[in-house]
Amino acid sequence: MINYRSLKFRIVFWYSIVFILAFILIEVGIYFYLDRSLHREIDVALNREAVEFAEKVMIRSGGIFISDSVEFNEPEHFYLNDASVFFRVFDKNLNLVAISENLKRANFVIPNPDRADVEGVREIEIEGKRLRIFYLPIRNENGLFGIIEMSKFEGAVQTAMGLLRTSLVLALLLAIIIVSYGGGAIVSRFISPLEQIIDKADKINAENLTERISVKQNNPPDEIIKLANSLNKLLERLERSFKQIAQFTYDVSHELLTPLTVMKDEIEISLMKRRNVKDYIQTLNVVYKQVNRSIDIIKSMLYLAKAEAGVISVNLREVNIPELIREVILTLNHKAKRKNIKVKFNCDSVLISKTDENILFDALRNILDNAIEYTGKGGSVEIKCEKVEEWLKISISDTGIGIGADDLPYIFDRFYRGRHALELNPTGTGLGLALTKSMIDLLKGKISVSSEIGKGTTFVVQIPA
Ligand code: ADP
Repeated sequence: MINYRSLKFRIVFWYSIVFILAFILIEVGIYFYLDRSLHREIDVALNREAVEFAEKVMIRSGGIFISDSVEFNEPEHFYLNDASVFFRVFDKNLNLVAISENLKRANFVIPNPDRADVEGVREIEIEGKRLRIFYLPIRNENGLFGIIEMSKFEGAVQTAMGLLRTSLVLALLLAIIIVSYGGGAIVSRFISPLEQIIDKADKINAENLTERISVKQNNPPDEIIKLANSLNKLLERLERSFKQIAQFTYDVSHELLTPLTVMKDEIEISLMKRRNVKDYIQTLNVVYKQVNRSIDIIKSMLYLAKAEAGVISVNLREVNIPELIREVILTLNHKAKRKNIKVKFNCDSVLISKTDENILFDALRNILDNAIEYTGKGGSVEIKCEKVEEWLKISISDTGIGIGADDLPYIFDRFYRGRHALELNPTGTGLGLALTKSMIDLLKGKISVSSEIGKGTTFVVQIPA
């Protein structure tokens, strides 16, 4: 069954239509060109005969006489065969003055010309044979005197044109067959890798996302290679996303399991027997802390998922960066004071950037919060900002515990916590820097870190100025 909607059918169909139309156009051109050339040859011969004859016509006292009777006996005017050339001469009143011998004997009649001044060529059909008739008016100084009619059967030309017509029709039929079958075979060859790709793509699902599409054909067309490559890249992205989702599910379950287990144990213990109010308050405090931690984790994961899905709206407006940093410091002042940490601030008074105030605020707050968290009592934190070419550069340095070289590449990963993080910050989730990084990405900025263990850490945030 032919599928009329298939690519193969459509390509072959339209290609064949265009090819056949072009073929017919060329055939018609050849036919008419040949037809005209061959008829022109007959006309030239008839014209030559008529002109020759005209030279032998004499006009005397109003009548026409043929001066040379030899003309009547010339074989082409005398015998009746395929090469016969018939003539008739009429005066200006269309009275027959002379007639060739062969025409006298012929069993057909050529209709008389309708006017004495007819000129040029006419064609009539006698018993299926085409007779070409040429008229040459005879004139002298007194004007029109009569007319010479020269005619000849087309014979060979008619046969040749008939043969040509048949050959052209046969050639057209042959071309249609070759184009549709040959075209079909060629298109099939080019489409077969496409079918392979569809076949393979149909079989790939969530379970075998590691498989890739390959084309089993020598020298496949470029477009097919590109299509296979694009699909493979798409599969790669899908595979990565699937892995991320699996990792995400694993991470969240794992991280939430700890607070939930702690809460369960606490509640179980306090339910074992009647306890006094102080004990219950203590249990509730533990539960409260763990619930808060769980909420923090869920909120952070939700934010990361939204940022990845591109559904967090970024509202750009002009923000005075030093002012924003001052507000960040203000929210963490009490924490710094509690640890006797000095927060130094070193910025030009006005530095404007078109950015999202809230996102940048949260990102910088996370970094400063960490700086205070991971710096021992009596240490210091310094925030600097400056404009460097088209970037606004904000650096936050502390004199804290520093990050080991083996931790450094991973600190922006979800749930990753440094080796010594637990000592200074036992309740951390390892999500702060992952969030910060995704926030800076949303602002089309960059974040980098340098650190030396025991000496301190510097985070550098750059956003478009
Ligand atoms: P958390 O602070 O909850 O552990 P983060 O994602 O904020 O998670 O940080 C990841 C890790 O990076 C931390 O566990 C810590 O080891 C390290 N870190 C971040 N900021 C600093 C800093 N200013 N000084 C030292 N270590 C830091």
